[in-house]
Amino acid sequence: MDEEGPDCGKADFVLLDQVTMEDFMENLKLRFEKGRIYTYIGEVLVSVNPYQELPLYGPEAIAKYQGRELYERPPHLYAVANAAYRAMKRRSRDTCIVISGESGAGKTEASKHIMQYIAAVTNPSQRAEVERVKDVLLKSTCVLEAFGNARTNRNNNSSRFGKYMDINFDFKGDPVGGHIHSYLLEKVGPAAWGPGAGRTFWEVPGSEGAPSAPGLPHPLCPHHPGGSGRGPLRGARAQLPFSPQSRVLKQHVGERNFHAFYQVLRGCEDSQLEDLHLQRNPALYSFTRQGAGLNPLDSDERSHHQAVMEAMRVIGFSPEEVDSVRRILAAILHLGNIEFVEMEEGGLEQGHVAVAEEVLVDHVAELTATPRESVMRCLLSRTVASGGRELIEKGHTAAEASYARDACAKAVYQRLFEWVVNRINCVMEPRGRDPRRDGKDTVIGVLDIYGFEVFPVNSFEQFCINYCNEKLQQLFIQLILKQEQEEYEREGIAWQSVDYFNNATIVDLVERPHRGVLAMLDEACSAAGTITDRIFLQSLDTHHRHHAHYTSRQLCPTDKTMEFGRDFRIKHYAGDVTYSVEGFIDKNRDHLFQDFKRLLYNSSDPTLRAMWPDGQQDITEVTKRPLTAGTLFKNSMVALVENLASKEPFYVRCIKPNEDKVAAKLDEGHCRHQVEYLGLLENVRVRRAGFASRQPYPRFLLRYKMTCEYTWPNHLLGSDRAAASALLEQHGLQGDVAFGHTKLFIRSPQTLVTLEQSRARLI
Ligand code: ADP
Ligand code: MG
Repeated sequence: MDEEGPDCGKADFVLLDQVTMEDFMENLKLRFEKGRIYTYIGEVLVSVNPYQELPLYGPEAIAKYQGRELYERPPHLYAVANAAYRAMKRRSRDTCIVISGESGAGKTEASKHIMQYIAAVTNPSQRAEVERVKDVLLKSTCVLEAFGNARTNRNNNSSRFGKYMDINFDFKGDPVGGHIHSYLLEKVGPAAWGPGAGRTFWEVPGSEGAPSAPGLPHPLCPHHPGGSGRGPLRGARAQLPFSPQSRVLKQHVGERNFHAFYQVLRGCEDSQLEDLHLQRNPALYSFTRQGAGLNPLDSDERSHHQAVMEAMRVIGFSPEEVDSVRRILAAILHLGNIEFVEMEEGGLEQGHVAVAEEVLVDHVAELTATPRESVMRCLLSRTVASGGRELIEKGHTAAEASYARDACAKAVYQRLFEWVVNRINCVMEPRGRDPRRDGKDTVIGVLDIYGFEVFPVNSFEQFCINYCNEKLQQLFIQLILKQEQEEYEREGIAWQSVDYFNNATIVDLVERPHRGVLAMLDEACSAAGTITDRIFLQSLDTHHRHHAHYTSRQLCPTDKTMEFGRDFRIKHYAGDVTYSVEGFIDKNRDHLFQDFKRLLYNSSDPTLRAMWPDGQQDITEVTKRPLTAGTLFKNSMVALVENLASKEPFYVRCIKPNEDKVAAKLDEGHCRHQVEYLGLLENVRVRRAGFASRQPYPRFLLRYKMTCEYTWPNHLLGSDRAAASALLEQHGLQGDVAFGHTKLFIRSPQTLVTLEQSRARLI
């Protein structure tokens, strides 16, 4: 780390004199102020978002790190990318880079730098297929960001989905394919319309899961009116279900919908817009005007749109597919403007509710290539199987129709996003590879996923996200310790295991079969509307009353920070989080409307049709309950963790310096909190409890040989190990080290400090 001056703090937190929060923060701050946004904890990279362009990236910087060891250069993402790449290439090990941190901490930017590094150092011979794969890998980010990112109050380009990308390499170390998994796009499904059930859940008497009356702010989300509080719907029905917040429908003040909508509105040619029956102004559309007025940043939209179109072309989307995507986005916008009016005579039967502006239905039908009458029917009624196999059509109330419209819009967007991911995956599938001829591919996985979330009121989404972080933390602990253990064995070093907080018990509380929170939630959901959120909470209380990491107001009546019958609290590894159970059941039942599915499956647009394979089922055949949102999420997390665990991990822990998204400001309280919940101090301690540092003998000598007469300029001692031993003996430090087969293990950071000091005196 030669190029870092002595006043830049410690490039590795392991070298701190003491592992206290104060020392940690002081070092972090000092480095940040000097533009040193990266610092190691052993091989873990801690990164602080600079919120300004720093001259740290690009071809020259890449060249500096290429082929070097991790410690040879100042800490950097490129060094981590290089280490992962070299481990993969040299030892044929699958590796992964896990990037974590809260929204706006710089995860996605970090993943892009990693990809750029990998793209820059591979394919020196310019093979065409490899170049194609690299192009797709790099361009896929731009397309996924258009559909999966949005401007939020915390980050102007916030990824609203978790992303794990595998890159496959051939034996030469060149990328030959890849695969993307996406997790929980910011959308939790509509409330249950139990397929085959004759009633919607809010018709169930005493359905306390339903929130406040429409039009009133929902307690979970002050910016989000319960249900849809627009015009004719107000007060239509007291027990309107809470439509779970979805960005497609509704955005917080100051936030926006997914970028793709604005890009189409701003970026399309006039004639294209005309074909889509759209006008340029996002303020004309319900779904794009909720959060914010116009913003100067929007002027980039046109060039973004062009970039996305170009990226889609390079990736291999056909012009027809791109057209379909645009039409689907337009259809969603029109759908959002449809309003329903209840006819004078009132009543609930079909025919008493009408669409206020029928031309919008025409547009939706045209853009989705479906019959107009069918679209109308789906909006105003639903098919239910009554009793046996007999089908009846049941008319919506205005509130139900509006609910159906929103559910459809969300589902269509969700399917569109999934289709885009799948389409990219098809193109990136390694082509024509034969393991016998080509050897086995090795893989580098890059995970960019939402960090721990705590809001004033936390709901099902935060519960899922925090569970995900528990899983990743567990993996982190296991792998870090496992790796240490393995290294000591490999090097023939005696080792005593370290005590650490094992969060397995929290993971278990969430995911255990039968009695875990998710299993109990599924049970509540399968009870066809008779179980309310409050009853669900009571059963959690009953079963987990003795769990050390679970509590609720019922179990702890004096704790006024929780509400009776509404809140439970989990003591996460990162801190306590209080969850409101309101909407849990609703959000977990991620049902879709069979009528809409069938409608879209029967579209004459092949692209749209391909997004709805399940639309071919007849409603009477839809007997099996679809998996719930929670279970699907759990399954994907289990698979993800298994996948990561099979790889050699590298970690990037991202820290957001302030809430104002401004440069050169490190808010100590804010950072301290992140350092706590990322478990960074613990990480330093675990690392130091064994050995603070380990270095291959040649590297150790290269750095310190000048401090000893027997090793300077070159030693004649037979082996590097013997030379290192002589050097340490001269400093009186031999008692603090262990000699491995290839590496020197240094127990206390003080030893390193002493060596560094004597080196500093000489240069
Ligand atoms: P996250 O994915 O963790 O939510 P992002 O990676 O989107 O966060 O970063 C948020 C914003 O912070 C970016 O849009 C960019 O403006 C800024 N940023 C992040 N990392 C860097 C960096 N290394 N250099 C400069 N700016 C950065
Ligand atoms: Mg992101």
